[in-house]
Parts: sequence; C-alpha cells; structure tokens
Amino acid sequence: MSALTGTVAALLGIEDAGDLARVSARAEAIGRALPAPARLGLRAGAGTLDTLSRLATGHRLDDLDADRRDAFCALLTSREPAARLVETLKIPLLLAAGTELLPIPGAAGEPRPDAPLDCTPSGEWPACSTADAVVIGSGAGGAMAARTLARRGMSVVIMEEGRRFAVAEFRDRPPLDRFLDLYRDGGSSMALGRPPVLLPEGRAVGGTTVVNSGTCYRTPGRVLRRWAALGVPVEDFGGHLDEVEATLRVARQPVGPLGRNGLLALEGAERLGWRAAPLRRNAPDCVGSGQCAAGCPHNAKYGVHLNALPQACAAGARIVTRARAERILVERGVAVGVRAHRPDGTALEILTPRVVVAAGATQTPLLLRRSGLGGHPELGRGMAVHPATNVAGRFAEPVVSWSGVMQSVGIEELHGDGILIEATASPPGMSSFPLPGAGRSLRRELEDADRLAVLGAMIADAPSGRVHGARHRALVRYDLAGEDAARLRRALVAMGRILFAAGAAEVLTGLPRRPVARDEAELTHAVAMASAADLHLAGFHPTGTAKLGAGEARAPVDPSGRLRGVRGVHIADASVLPSCPEVNPQLTIMAMALRIAEGIE
Ligand SMILES: Cc1cc2nc3c(=O)[nH]c(=O)nc-3n(C[C@H](O)[C@H](O)[C@H](O)COP(=O)(O)OP(=O)(O)OC[C@H]3O[C@@H](n4cnc5c(N)ncnc54)[C@H](O)[C@@H]3O)c2cc1C
Repeated sequence: MSALTGTVAALLGIEDAGDLARVSARAEAIGRALPAPARLGLRAGAGTLDTLSRLATGHRLDDLDADRRDAFCALLTSREPAARLVETLKIPLLLAAGTELLPIPGAAGEPRPDAPLDCTPSGEWPACSTADAVVIGSGAGGAMAARTLARRGMSVVIMEEGRRFAVAEFRDRPPLDRFLDLYRDGGSSMALGRPPVLLPEGRAVGGTTVVNSGTCYRTPGRVLRRWAALGVPVEDFGGHLDEVEATLRVARQPVGPLGRNGLLALEGAERLGWRAAPLRRNAPDCVGSGQCAAGCPHNAKYGVHLNALPQACAAGARIVTRARAERILVERGVAVGVRAHRPDGTALEILTPRVVVAAGATQTPLLLRRSGLGGHPELGRGMAVHPATNVAGRFAEPVVSWSGVMQSVGIEELHGDGILIEATASPPGMSSFPLPGAGRSLRRELEDADRLAVLGAMIADAPSGRVHGARHRALVRYDLAGEDAARLRRALVAMGRILFAAGAAEVLTGLPRRPVARDEAELTHAVAMASAADLHLAGFHPTGTAKLGAGEARAPVDPSGRLRGVRGVHIADASVLPSCPEVNPQLTIMAMALRIAEGIE
C-alpha cells in the first residue's frame, strides 16, 4: 500500500479499492518527479494528516471508514492552519485523480510532422569545440537570436538544458506525464511570499514556447512609450513584431474549435457589453485538443521548435541538448567561451567570442552570478510575473472546458486598468483552479467538473519579485503589492460577472473560506472578505530580472542588449524587458531578441 493511500482516500473521498490504488500510485509518481523540497513536503504533509487523525479520532487515516474520514475532513477544513495544509495537498492529489479517473481521449487525425532540427545530445558532443557564437537557452528569445546570427553566416551552437520532445510523445503519453517532464521541477517551481505564487517554466528544446498557450499579443503602444523614456530604442519595434508574427504564423483564432468554454466567455461578455474576441494565436491549424500546456498532440501550436529553431538549423546552427551552461568563461573582461555540464556531471567547453544568454528570467541571473558577472546591484531585482488567478462557473449543461482551445478568448474591457481576462481551461485536474472542499464532496466536484467553465485573469503588476541564489535552484521571492491585490480582487469579481451573465448557476471563487457564490452580491462580499493570502495565484510570465536601459544604475544591460561590465555577453530573453509588458509576452520577448541579435557584431 502507498504511504499516500490514507491521504488520497480521505481528501479525495475515494472508496473503490481499484480507484484508490491507481490514484495513490499516480500521486506517488508525481511525488517522485518533484524536486526534493516539494517531495518531502508532500510526504510530511501526508504524515501530518495521519498524526492529526490519530489525535482527533484515535485511528490512522487508513483505518477510518468513509463517514469518519469525511467528518475528519470537515474538522480539518474548518480550522487554520490545517485548512491551508489540505488546500496545498489537494494540488498534486487532484492532478493524480484527474489523470486516473477522468482520462481524456487520445488525439485523432495525423499530426503535423516534427520539424528537422540539428540536435546532438551533450553525451555525444566533444569536450572542447569552437563556434562564432553560443546561445544559452533555446526558448522564445534564444531561438530568435540563434536564427538571426546563423543567417548572418556565423557558426552558432545553441546549448539547451532540456531535451527534444517529439510529437509522438505528445500523443502517446497522458498529459500529466508530459507535464512533469516538460517543466523545470515538474512544474512545481514557486515564488515564496504571501501568498506564494506558482511559477512554472518550460525546459525543453523550444523552451517555454513548447508548453505555452499560444496567445499572441503585440506589445502595447503605452508600454513601448515607457521603454522609449528609459532610453530603449523602439522606433523599429513594430517591424520586429511583424517579423515575429510572420515566423509564428499568428492569426485570430477561428470560432470553430473554440469549445464551449470560450463560447460562454464570449456570450457573458456580450451580455455585459464588454469588449471580447477570440485571441490571436500562433496555432493556425488548432483543432482544440486543449492540451497546449503539456505539448500539442497535433504540433498545431507553433512553438519555436517548429519555426525559428529549424530555420536557425537550416542556416547552420546546431543544438546541443541536455547541456546545462555552468558558467561563461571570461578572460580580462572579455567572454571567451561557455562551460556546460552533461547529465552525468562531466563538462564540455565551447570556445567563442560571443555569448548570448537566453536561459529565461529566473535562470539568467543565476548563470551570470555563477560566472562572476552578477555584480550589478539590480540584477535579479524588479521581476514582474503577471500574477494570475481564476474562477469557475457551474452551468446546468456540460461545458467540458478541456475540450476546445485551451486559451481561447480575450476580454479586454479592463485592460486599461491592467486587468486582462482570458478564457483558459486545462485537462481534468491540471487546471490551477482549486476545486472546493475535501472528502466525498471534493470527489463529487471532480465528477461534476465537466459542468464548469473557467476564466483566468492576469494583472500588470508592480515589479515586486527578486531572484536570489547563484547555484542551480533559483530562490524567488515575490511580495504582492497592495494595489495588485486590489486589482486581483477586481478581476475575480469581473470574471464572476461574466460567468453569471453567461448563465452560471453559481461561481466557484477559489477562495478557501467562501468557495461558492450564488450571485454577484455574494461574490463581491466573498472577495472583499478574502485576505491577500487567500488568493490562489500563479505567475506565467516572469520578466525583467536583467533589465535593459540607458540608465547605468538601473539597468544591468545596455540598450543594445550588452551586459554591462564585460565584453562579448548579450542577454536576449524575458530578463531584459524594461518593465511589465502588460500582455502575454512571447512576441515582445522574440522581437526584443531579434533586435538585440541584429546589433551583435
Ligand atoms: C503555462 C504557460 C503558458 C504560457 N502561455 C503564454 C501565451 O499564451 N502567450 C505568451 O505570449 N506567453 C506565454 N507564456 C510565457 C512565454 O512562453 C515565456 O514568457 C517565454 O517563452 C519566455 O521566453 P525566454 O526565452 O525568456 O525563456 P524560455 O522560453 O523559458 O527558454 C529558456 C530556455 O533556457 C533553458 N535553460 C535555462 N537555464 C539553462 C542553462 N543553464 N543552460 C542551458 N539551458 C538553459 C531552459 O531549459 C529553457 O528551455 C506561457 C508560459 C507558461 C509557463
């Protein structure tokens, strides 16, 4: 029997022995895929529940019958801090239950074939080699930089810590298994603070673009004007955005595959008279399988592994996979190469006069510090994350929110106030939306999940985050600013209004103390009574940890993308954005990387 069996049975209200064994085994597998702190936290949490059970009932959780388990759950959820522990434990357990109890059908039809990439696993790469340029990270920024340099005739090597994923894997393996592999730390990375913020980042050839939702917004004019005032040349930025859009084949999402979740968002917004439309996306042939976050089983979403990277390879670039850049080698203030580690711990070095760092906003500051290049006092500071939250509406008829486009409709009515609402739903159990309750009531919620429509909102935040650390694990601190907590509350009420307008019988708030609202007044009250710590947050867009700008004191990176204080090192990823981009950032990051790479001599 699994050590988690008692916890699974109690919190998820599972009575059938077969279901219990499968969900417990799956929860154990999730635990094994998590980094040590999260794994130990899961075990310790389960152990604490068992101890509490003995104290409260005189029996271990495993020995309680279903009625007594439910009574114990009711006791736990009525008191702090036990209620918070239950909410935390529910996240991996719901992932396990969603996968085992609500499996989604396999992908039908032929996928778009994988693109040709020149990938070599680090184990087969020589210990010492040379290149005109080394790009660290193959995500949004790195792919664009590599393509630009390779097309100018340079020999380019892209170093990527993750591995290559083929579309066959996205069809043959359950979404959860892929999810655990495709993300750093199995997707469990957190920013610490009150409240903590889940901060998932991709780790694969193609970076986070392999798992993102495919939403494509151009950088708003007001953001570019702010950047111009900071000394960032943005006159040609429109042209760079055009080129990125052409690369990603960005187009308005047709209504056909939207799915009921998106249609309800459109209906609700229309009844309120709010501006809303299907999003512009880089998935022109999307069939609505709803699995963007775990790799598209049709290769319909155009992550950079399907365009900018193969184009870079066609121009001669090579990708060395499972190579983690340890440090940039510098002699007398000039970059001379990069040292990386293979998974077996052995090292490889690539000698080069040009290093482009594109390891993402949390990893880039760590790499620079490991390389002795982290001296600028602002490095790692002032990170924005677009804190995001979501609500669900319960409808009389099935919605099956996971069948359709994962992120389908944008509602921009409040965008002027920094609130962007997007209809976003994930495969069962994988949504970051917290289903309410514990025990058999939670089990009923899970079984009823097909009647929920889910909306998400992200806000343009103050740069409240900081990346600490110099080794491999980023320690991220994020303290939600007071005005941002107020915006998130507004966003919750606004999303609830849309769902009620679309006909929801009730709204699940995600707030632990007042999880259900039957009308707008109840929702407004529930949100007003919630503390910042009650907000259930995720941040999908960390940016700004190595800002670019003219002011030397404020910006570690100069306006051309060059890291100050060393020659031959450029930064070309989310880290360089001078302030929160206020929209989903992939186009902005890629356009900025393109601009920076064009200027590299
Ligand atoms: C679930 C989710 C959904 C999203 N949806 C959207 C969306 O719909 N629209 C949108 O615009 N944006 C979206 N984003 C965000 C967007 O994808 C990212 O902002 C963008 O990809 C960041 O680009 P980047 O180049 O900075 O980093 P990444 O794309 O994350 O690439 C960094 C790469 O560097 C590698 N790396 C890190 N350290 C090292 C090292 N030491 N050595 C070698 N390699 C290393 C990583 O493995 C990774 O592959 C989403 C993000 C998430 C998590």
